[in-house]
Amino acid sequence: MDLNDSPTEAAFRKEARAFLDTHAPAVRESLDRDLADHAEPAREVMLDWQQTLFDNGWAAITWPEEHGGRGGGPVEQIIWNQECSRANVPASINIVGIGMAGPAIIAHGTEEQRSRHLRNILDGTEIWCQLFSEPDAGSDLAAVRTRAVRDGDDWVVSGQKVWSSGGHYADWGILLARTDPSVPKHDGITFFLVDMTTPGVNALPLRQVTGDAHFAEVFLDEVRIPDSRRIGDVGAGWSVAVTTILHERMTLGGSLGVFQLDDLVELARECAPVSPAVRDQVMRLYSRDRILDLLNARIISKLGAGEIPTAEGSIAKICAARVLSDAADAAIALAGPRLLVDTRPWQRLFLWAPGIHIGGGTDEVQRNAVAERVLGLPREKDESRTTPFDQVQR
Ligand SMILES: Cc1cc2nc3c(=O)[nH]c(=O)nc-3n(C[C@H](O)[C@H](O)[C@H](O)COP(=O)(O)OP(=O)(O)OC[C@H]3O[C@@H](n4cnc5c(N)ncnc54)[C@H](O)[C@@H]3O)c2cc1C
Repeated sequence: MDLNDSPTEAAFRKEARAFLDTHAPAVRESLDRDLADHAEPAREVMLDWQQTLFDNGWAAITWPEEHGGRGGGPVEQIIWNQECSRANVPASINIVGIGMAGPAIIAHGTEEQRSRHLRNILDGTEIWCQLFSEPDAGSDLAAVRTRAVRDGDDWVVSGQKVWSSGGHYADWGILLARTDPSVPKHDGITFFLVDMTTPGVNALPLRQVTGDAHFAEVFLDEVRIPDSRRIGDVGAGWSVAVTTILHERMTLGGSLGVFQLDDLVELARECAPVSPAVRDQVMRLYSRDRILDLLNARIISKLGAGEIPTAEGSIAKICAARVLSDAADAAIALAGPRLLVDTRPWQRLFLWAPGIHIGGGTDEVQRNAVAERVLGLPREKDESRTTPFDQVQR
């Protein structure tokens, strides 16, 4: 296995780095100014950054060129994410739009839906959110209960979604709703595009421990969605969702390493003398960070050889979450009470770290995937996979 960039990959990395070297410092400065006052960057800065990405052809690495993307593959996406991490800038404010809604519309949408949305997603005119999780459907996403009932040319949708990142400011949402409860859970779901300004959509921000509201809980009360905003066939929403989740994972691939090891070492120097136990903690972190780099290189190498990394993605996600938590813990050990007043970036990372073990598939669910795919352990028994949804005991 060759873990070095191929000549084509090296050329792509060089191009990405040159763009980021030119444009990232300005956005970094604005973000730093914002983050001095808030735990989350202001939307305006992120929207400006999206426009810069769009103007320079970096808004959507894996979208086909005919739809305004860069025509790259998963390898280019990972390299791009790594370079954004290195430059310490976010890849996009419109992760759901670029990573999920757009690919779903490109793969399964109508021409009208493509011309209505794709360009607006790229330049950030439309910010999208993902209306998938519900209070009783997270890891077991196919258990969604939000109902959509056909009424003429519309669907009437009622239910509750939760943990919708950016749901309180998004313009549009991708929604999974149950259109047929009389069939097993995966077969009765349909995928819709929702205009978040439709009467009956009520998105309430959820304030979290960082002090800001990253998520919303979204109540849908008899929301009318025209059938023209359905993606894919009625009852085929699960397969559309699976392709969008794969795209999302690809869009996020290699991007969880958002902390800079050099910054932690700098903090250790500032806090000298450092106890042997904390030195040990920082060194262990350095080793794990290197392992994560190698895991990502392995994923790139497999993709480059035309193979699909499955378990590697789960292992990298578990490892990345662990590295980020450990980095936050090491910073706390180094700076101690100073972090109570010095709010960034370590305090933010410390408060964010638990969520990283949950979003995009929890550690336990990722471990299940590794157990099944690598160790060959039997799949967990789940009778609800074959029982009509309305007959499942809850
Ligand atoms: C930062 C972040 C951003 C998010 N953004 C969005 C978003 O934009 N849109 C959206 O729809 N959702 C979003 N989510 C929600 C996320 O997808 C869910 O939180 C996640 O799928 C877990 O579901 P849950 O919270 O319902 O926990 P549950 O599924 O109820 O899990 C509870 C606990 O049980 C464990 N568990 C569950 N099933 C198993 C199993 N089979 N084996 C072993 N252990 C198990 C879990 O690991 C967890 O520890 C986000 C979450 C986070 C943290």
